[in-house]
Amino acid sequence: MKNIVLFGPPGVGKGTQAALLKERYDLVHISTGDVFREHIKNKTELGKLASSYMDYGNLVPDKVTIEMLKSEINKNLDAKGIIFDGFPRTIVQATELDSCLKVKGLKVNGMVALEVPENLLVERILNRGKTSGRPDDQDEGKIRHRFGLYRTKTAILREYYQEQNKYFGVNGVGAIDEITQRLTDVIDKF
Ligand code: ADP
Repeated sequence: MKNIVLFGPPGVGKGTQAALLKERYDLVHISTGDVFREHIKNKTELGKLASSYMDYGNLVPDKVTIEMLKSEINKNLDAKGIIFDGFPRTIVQATELDSCLKVKGLKVNGMVALEVPENLLVERILNRGKTSGRPDDQDEGKIRHRFGLYRTKTAILREYYQEQNKYFGVNGVGAIDEITQRLTDVIDKF
């Protein structure tokens, strides 16, 4: 399996690019945010719990997120590979992902990170909030809070993957198809 972590701060375009990469490489796309939102829509217990964190821009606790992610992986073991979008977001999540894949004889092939200056992103997210209906996209304070968590808890994953020579940064500013091309130039080598 070709397993790819698509990485970057909120609003950087991971969802858009993941959908395109999924088609191109015939991969399964697991977005933890989308899975949580699906649970919220279906009013499951997990959905209720997740929304009590997500609506305020907080991270859902690791234990809950990891359990949910593992069950998504287990549903897709026959896939050609998985694009992880929005996961891992903490060091604990990254180590759990590694060990979960390892017991199955699998690994993360690489992390591709979309790099975009933060000031461009807040505006993008506020615009997305006008149509997405996401409560966490409609309030600048909540958005800034998400960036704060990204800096304190998530950004360190760059080093985690760099130490394994698995980090590849890609310029995320430009037209959608240009960015897809930059990503595929990297992923083709995995
Ligand atoms: P964005 O990247 O724009 O923040 P996502 O859809 O990836 O959007 O995530 C939305 C929210 O879902 C996060 O703010 C967080 O509350 C929750 N979430 C998603 N993935 C994780 C994760 N790996 N760990 C903890 N919380 C998560």
